[in-house]
Amino acid sequence: MRVYNFSAGPAQLPLPVLERAASELTDWSGSGMSVLEVSHRGKDFVACAADAEATLRRVMGVPEDYRVLFLQGGATAQFAGIPLNLTAPGDTVAYLNTGQWSAKAVEQARAYDLDVVVVADEAASSYTTTPEEGSFSVPQDARYLHYTPNETIGGVEFGYVPDAGDVALVADASSTILSRPLDVSRYGLIYAGAQKNMGPSGLCVVIVREDLLGRARTTTPVVLDYTRMSAADSMLNTPPTFAVYLLGLIAHWLEDNGGLEAMGERNRAKAELLYGAVDASDFYTNPVQERSRSWMNVPFTLADPALDADFLLGAQAAGLTNLKGHRSVGGMRASIYNAMPIEGVQALVDYMTDFEATRA
Ligand code: PMP
Repeated sequence: MRVYNFSAGPAQLPLPVLERAASELTDWSGSGMSVLEVSHRGKDFVACAADAEATLRRVMGVPEDYRVLFLQGGATAQFAGIPLNLTAPGDTVAYLNTGQWSAKAVEQARAYDLDVVVVADEAASSYTTTPEEGSFSVPQDARYLHYTPNETIGGVEFGYVPDAGDVALVADASSTILSRPLDVSRYGLIYAGAQKNMGPSGLCVVIVREDLLGRARTTTPVVLDYTRMSAADSMLNTPPTFAVYLLGLIAHWLEDNGGLEAMGERNRAKAELLYGAVDASDFYTNPVQERSRSWMNVPFTLADPALDADFLLGAQAAGLTNLKGHRSVGGMRASIYNAMPIEGVQALVDYMTDFEATRA
């Protein structure tokens, strides 16, 4: 029996995708082999990777002058890959700090010989909000402005695309990519670990505007060098083949289910249902300022933390798993990525209502 899995990542994947992968696991496209066992240089896998990229491009509406790269090392590797590819020693770079993931990106940038300017910092709010639109200014000599549209731990999401002027906008979209339509043309670079909305861990997708290529420092490891990886179709070395294959299945699943418009409507309805239940109760609390609430990661606390363990045990018994909040925030966190159906959110809300009625 499948449970409703609220994990922040690696996260629940769409059942039809898992079933398809299972059905062809031992004999993929008539090869008599698993996709796990074929050469990444063989024509079947090269076609599979090309189809994954083409389908992702269609689903996201990626303009022609952007390259799509399939890299490894997670989003964390790109915290270093971005400064290495886009800066020279002494350059200025700008960051918005809205949570633990943006803070990690800032920390990595500070390891380089750069002037790192944090143009808005929400640490003082314990990362419960995003900066007001228009409230910060970006140094126009900065090589890029980096931000995290959705902070997975704090459950804080930007409701707008920051205006960086002529500065290239760089987004760590790990936990929001594919959750709703996104205007790629507003960005210089978008990157995301796959393990939330795009597939299994081990793959990081980088979408980069072509004019930003060709500037990598000579010290950049080749596997992080966007220009060299792009020239080699992301196959300078062995790519994470299974993850690329699964990304392709997920992109087709999205396309078959109405694309990002339809996904965005479903995700809005799911988030409204869950926040509505939290707000209607005095027992559950979400700390995030309303305009900055995430559609994907919903942290909430119980009025009495002594009941946390019982809440989690009962949830597990009801088939609702991985609700324990991040250790730094406490309480609960429900991650409701694309693969979580509204029925799963309704089951969680029903359970929360019952728990409050019997235990509060
Ligand atoms: N950025 C965000 C927003 C994340 O949620 C995560 C992972 N949870 C990371 C970066 C780090 O990703 P990875 O583990 O793939 O390096």
